[in-house]
Amino acid sequence: MYQIYALKYAERDTTACQFFFREHSHDPITLHYFVWLILGGPHPVLVDTGFMEDDVERRGIRNYVRPSLMVERMGVKLADIPIALISHLHYDHWAGHRLFPASEFWIQKDEVAFWTGRFGRYEAFSQSQNVGALANLVPLNYAQRLRIVEGEVEVLPGLRVHRVGGHTAGLQIVSVETARGRVVLTSDAAHFYRNVERYQPTQIITNLPEMLAGFDTINALAGDPARVVTGHDPEVAARFKPLEPGIIQVA
Ligand SMILES: [Zn+2]
Repeated sequence: MYQIYALKYAERDTTACQFFFREHSHDPITLHYFVWLILGGPHPVLVDTGFMEDDVERRGIRNYVRPSLMVERMGVKLADIPIALISHLHYDHWAGHRLFPASEFWIQKDEVAFWTGRFGRYEAFSQSQNVGALANLVPLNYAQRLRIVEGEVEVLPGLRVHRVGGHTAGLQIVSVETARGRVVLTSDAAHFYRNVERYQPTQIITNLPEMLAGFDTINALAGDPARVVTGHDPEVAARFKPLEPGIIQVA
């Protein structure tokens, strides 16, 4: 049985019409930025790495603290995290990999192929890139710090990744067996609860049918909406248990 903590390290304001697919409302929305820490196994497992100061300045981020500092506040040493599961390679999930020097990064094959391949040049996909962080994929692979995975993979007993795609080419979600049942960390397969609960896509998409099928996969894996942890929704703090500022106990 594992314990899961959502660690919030930043916030950003935008509007509903800029974020949701074919949405007309100009209502303000706030994104919370998280990494997730899974304890209770043979060693800690991190999900995603957040970003660093270069993206804070470029993107109008507020209330930033280094994700690695949030992990250390949990009493976990960065040297003791051998595995970091990377949901996808957008800046807010990958550009912080430089903060976690002891980790091997588990990423789907389709995700690595996408960002190092043909479509990397198109502006339509450039908004969420951190080019330096993406360029590091190749030397990290040669240094045996990438674990390129395909499809559904068991990381440890009761802890799995599942490729869903949709938002990005090889987006993967994480399922974790806990005392409250199987919890699903959706990352950006569902940025907000309204994505997965109302089947309303987000605007940033590589494959719309895969995004919709991903909502089905999340709901089927979790079995109960109360075990779904979405990727950027401030509502996570209301649905689960805040312990102190920025630290939410999920299970
Ligand atoms: Zn994101």
